Amino acid sequence: MDGAALAARVRQEVKDEVAELGHVGLATVLVGDDPASEVYIRLKHKAAEEVGIHAIDKRLPADTPEEDVLELVGELNDDDGVDGILVQTPLPPQIDEARVMRTIDPMKDVDGLHPFNAGQLFFGRQTLVGATPVGIMRLLDEYRIPVAGVRAVVVGRSLIVGRPVAMLLLHANATVTICHSRTQDLARHTVDADILVAAVGVPGVITADMVKQGAAVVDVGITRTEVGLVGDVEPGVAEVAAFLTPVPGGVGPMTIAALLGNAVRAARFRSGRLAFPRI
Ligand code: NAP
Repeated sequence: MDGAALAARVRQEVKDEVAELGHVGLATVLVGDDPASEVYIRLKHKAAEEVGIHAIDKRLPADTPEEDVLELVGELNDDDGVDGILVQTPLPPQIDEARVMRTIDPMKDVDGLHPFNAGQLFFGRQTLVGATPVGIMRLLDEYRIPVAGVRAVVVGRSLIVGRPVAMLLLHANATVTICHSRTQDLARHTVDADILVAAVGVPGVITADMVKQGAAVVDVGITRTEVGLVGDVEPGVAEVAAFLTPVPGGVGPMTIAALLGNAVRAARFRSGRLAFPRI
């Protein structure tokens, strides 16, 4: 599954929507100098500017107290030029991530990490859902991979990928199993999967013998190694799977494109073009 090609199309769609809306502002907050986070922020800004989204880059030192981060988020909440707010994780240890996410205006919460948006997803009334899960569902849709009634196995249960993608698959009527580090005999579950989503961050954790013939495999994992970026899925899986996302060029570009889509969605909520539930 060619995420890079589909992402280019999604970005063009977003560009047209931004032109129609006139202004869309996306603010990112980076606390500290984690090199991987800096790369992600740079990619997000470049992509935003290319589609005409006004990107605002807020950076704070690693030792910033939690109150200062909350204050900055509060300022961005009040800024009418800002439609979407993304606080890059992981945050330094002195900062309570959940508290920061709870502080973001739910209508601007483009990562879908405010409990209101996470709750709406749980209820099947999606408002803003994180970019990676949205990007994954768009890929499955693009390649006409049946979801209703099939067995989907998600390996990983993070708030940003594993859990929300499992919820979206469930709402699309898949029979969903969520696996994690405490799962006994992981292969027993994965080998039954018609759709297998690996969101672990352990290179090669999914081997060919763990995959059903003809399955659709989505490799979310990104690990930096001496040979470059590698996913969670061993290359041999390509011999067994009918569909597979490459790393890089699969879920990564779809995540960035879906983030831009979420910024547009937030702008539509804020302008009243789309109804946001009253809280
Ligand atoms: P995370 O918060 O570290 O979560 C990893 C999950 O994998 C946890 O639920 C963990 O289980 C589970 N796990 C760890 N070792 C396992 C094992 N041996 N067998 C089964 N499950 C295991 O990571 P994340 O934020 O979800 O990200 C996962 C990967 O995706 C990372 O490589 C990240 O860089 C990548 N990622 C890529 C994109 C993209 O755009 N392509 C976006 C986001 C993340 P426990 O819950 O029990 O600890």
